[in-house]
Amino acid sequence: MKALRKLAKEHEHFELADVEEPEPAAGWVVLRVLYAGICGTDLHIMHNAFPSWPPVTVGHEFLGRVAAVGDGVGEWAVGDRVVCEPHALACGVCHLCRRGHAEICARKRSPGWGIDGGMAELVHVPAHLLHRVPDSVPDLAAALCEPAAIVLSGLERMPVHPGSVVLVFGPGPIGLLSAMAARACGAGRVVLVGRPSSRSRLDLARRLGLETWDSTTADVAERAHEITGGRGADLVIESSGSPDALAAAIGALRRRGRLLVLGVSDSPQIRVPWATAMNRALDVTFSLSSSWSSWDAALALMARGALDPAPLATVFPLGDWQDAFTALAERHVVKALLDPRRP
Ligand SMILES: [Zn+2]
Ligand SMILES: [Zn+2]
Repeated sequence: MKALRKLAKEHEHFELADVEEPEPAAGWVVLRVLYAGICGTDLHIMHNAFPSWPPVTVGHEFLGRVAAVGDGVGEWAVGDRVVCEPHALACGVCHLCRRGHAEICARKRSPGWGIDGGMAELVHVPAHLLHRVPDSVPDLAAALCEPAAIVLSGLERMPVHPGSVVLVFGPGPIGLLSAMAARACGAGRVVLVGRPSSRSRLDLARRLGLETWDSTTADVAERAHEITGGRGADLVIESSGSPDALAAAIGALRRRGRLLVLGVSDSPQIRVPWATAMNRALDVTFSLSSSWSSWDAALALMARGALDPAPLATVFPLGDWQDAFTALAERHVVKALLDPRRP
């Protein structure tokens, strides 16, 4: 079968290789992949800026149908449509696994960098990581379950209170999903903030019914206070990773406001307006990866039509993976999906 692989650590490219079809081990299943999403992490894996164990098939975000089940797998049958948490090989005995946070276990080896991943016709994964996709959720929406779960994992620790004013910084896939999720979770007003260089993404956001602000034309912090009668925003979701955005986010919040940080930053250090944050007695949460419960939450919101990530997706045949990676790196698309059924 065809699989997109990182062949060696010293290489800065991937190759579409012919590999053996996987057989299911006990407790594992083989999925026939419908779509595999390309994420910023995959670009980092390509350029050795994220750890990987090559030779390895890339892709940690995928939707598939069960094609074969290993011994002892009772709850899944051939044909089931599923998504899969990428938290394979978590140890089960460290303090994080015992607290229910296998997603940040140091021993975890995800499909896509630690073990063979989903940018292939078939992928081999542990059965306990699967989530059933409700019938009412279309393939293209379900294919974005992983980034949606990243967002909902953050919102589990930093919930959207009913009627609250939520600002989201950074209109990338995580920012767009954050704004859509905040709306689905009962926010009173949601504003997505971005730079003019992200115009196409802000245009998409408006087509999806979201309010957007250009971060360069007005003082975002000032505007946040204006629209809240001088009070400030209740919750800011930072998904840009930009040093300027963090300062604006803190400036925009009210006293006892809350900041959820989802953005991965290229800057090794970011200055914090400490006095403002202290004066406002802010709550700050950094969220990484996705909890087990956030996957079912994402699918539940999709199932009732409250969250539809499908408009974010552009599909490429697996054979056109180079075009897809380029389109993502150059930000011509919001989210690129590879379809291994089209060679
Ligand atoms: Zn990802
Ligand atoms: Zn562990």
